[in-house]
Amino acid sequence: MGTRWIFGDQLGPHFTDDHDGPLLLVESRAVLRRRRFHRQKAHLVLSAMRHRARELGDRVTFVQAETYREALDRVEGPLEVLQPTSRAAVRFVEAVAEEREVVKLPARGYVTSREEFGRWVGGRGRLLMEDYYRDARRRTGILMDGDEPVGGRWNFDAVNREPPPRGSTTLGVPEPWWPEEDDVDEEVRRDLDAWQADGMRFHGDDGPRRFPATSREADTALDDFLENRLDAFGTYEDAVLAADPWMAHSLVSAPLNLGLLDPAVVVARAEEAWRADDLRLASVEGFVRQVLGWREYVWHLYWHLGEDYRTANKLNQRRSLPDWFADLDADAADAACLSHTLADLRAHGWVHHIPRLMILGSYALQRGWKPTEVTDWFHRAFVDGYDWVMVPNVIGMSQHADGGVLATKPYTSGGAYLDKMTDYCGGCRFDPRKRVGEDACPFTAGYWWFLDRQRERLGGNHRMRQALAGLDRLQDLDALVAQEDQRGSRAP
Ligand SMILES: Cc1cc2nc3c(=O)[nH]c(=O)nc-3n(C[C@H](O)[C@H](O)[C@H](O)COP(=O)(O)OP(=O)(O)OC[C@H]3O[C@@H](n4cnc5c(N)ncnc54)[C@H](O)[C@@H]3O)c2cc1C
Ligand code: SF4
Repeated sequence: MGTRWIFGDQLGPHFTDDHDGPLLLVESRAVLRRRRFHRQKAHLVLSAMRHRARELGDRVTFVQAETYREALDRVEGPLEVLQPTSRAAVRFVEAVAEEREVVKLPARGYVTSREEFGRWVGGRGRLLMEDYYRDARRRTGILMDGDEPVGGRWNFDAVNREPPPRGSTTLGVPEPWWPEEDDVDEEVRRDLDAWQADGMRFHGDDGPRRFPATSREADTALDDFLENRLDAFGTYEDAVLAADPWMAHSLVSAPLNLGLLDPAVVVARAEEAWRADDLRLASVEGFVRQVLGWREYVWHLYWHLGEDYRTANKLNQRRSLPDWFADLDADAADAACLSHTLADLRAHGWVHHIPRLMILGSYALQRGWKPTEVTDWFHRAFVDGYDWVMVPNVIGMSQHADGGVLATKPYTSGGAYLDKMTDYCGGCRFDPRKRVGEDACPFTAGYWWFLDRQRERLGGNHRMRQALAGLDRLQDLDALVAQEDQRGSRAP
């Protein structure tokens, strides 16, 4: 039997339980040297790998080396590999397979297989997440009553996604469970300090480690979410509160993407919690939709959309990311929403979906930043960022760089949406209703500036017709364009 080489995002027991032979796990320093990651992301990944190596004991050869090549040279005999999660890693495995025997096995860590997705695609035109999700519900039986969805409805969006509760600065649900750091974390911190002193570059604050590094910690975090926050998940899923960065979100993306949690187990446990505890169906469905719907859909699209998808730039956005944004310099911006979001990201390496999409991503889109640079930045800055999940989310969902394959219209808005869905605007020096002048909101002005630049490219999209008609009615468009041309990518 060959040595099964497990990657740093294949760390749960479901990647090794069926294999009695030896295991190989590689910690490559070159990966950290090549790009500037958030310090907490580097910490989490190293901590999780080292914890796994300790758990596996004699079963694993744990190699800490500069490169994968160096590590592979230390192991003899055939290798066995479960399909890695990035195109670059797949290419690397293929190159190794030209030199020695490598048994390639299908990917794990997703509820649906690539073959199932392929069959679903069939001769379909548009690949809608909603259709894929319903199909996955039928096939897995999750939240199903025979052939019908439990509760008689597939979708509870109409009752979810409320603005934040008025007059409250927090959602009032218990704060998430946090792991306690141990001697492995201490060692990781020492190593990162030493490498940093030696020239390796990071951004973001150091610790405390907030995300699980072992399957046991991940199970505890999941239990805590199911018990204390799942019931409130749906209602305020899209709302943002400055003083409550976590709200009722699950924080399971990092342990899921490290392979510490099995998504099939996560959705089954959510259903169990609903059946046992009479939780709100809208919340449970909303959560299952994220894991069984969005996560799986994005995973399959990463492969389905091909190699060139990552460099798509259909809106021809050419500006580089400015340093203040790239460095998470929250203090550089007066705009309360941007400054707060960058500060949260600097502090935790995580913000929830709406700040990612409607604040950070929307700002990048409005300012015309290069989609490849935006993808790379998101990948490095977020604890849960991996190539497969960042490429579709940033290129497709957030930057509309694919011309509308993944999202039918660009996700961007003026300040009015942010004023409704967040509590930032009250404390901001800008006014979300103003588009021109000293206190013009950079999102409101940025929205029209973006539409004006993209008028021709978006003209054929019927979902943009109303917005473009609004643009034509603006009396002060010339002044707005001059103002935003001047502001460009400077911190607002
Ligand atoms: C620009 C942008 C970048 C993103 N980058 C990542 C990323 O690098 N890694 C990542 O896991 N998610 C990413 N997402 C999706 C989503 O924002 C995060 O999964 C979520 O915020 C993580 O927090 P949570 O675990 O509390 O999620 P919850 O809100 O509790 O949702 C539950 C789970 O659903 C899954 N999920 C929901 N939406 C998506 C999605 N669009 N794509 C994939 N999984 C999804 C995640 O596994 C998540 O843990 C990105 C979204 C945007 C708009
Ligand atoms: S006014 Fe504009 S810049 Fe200020 S917080 Fe609101 S949306 Fe953000």
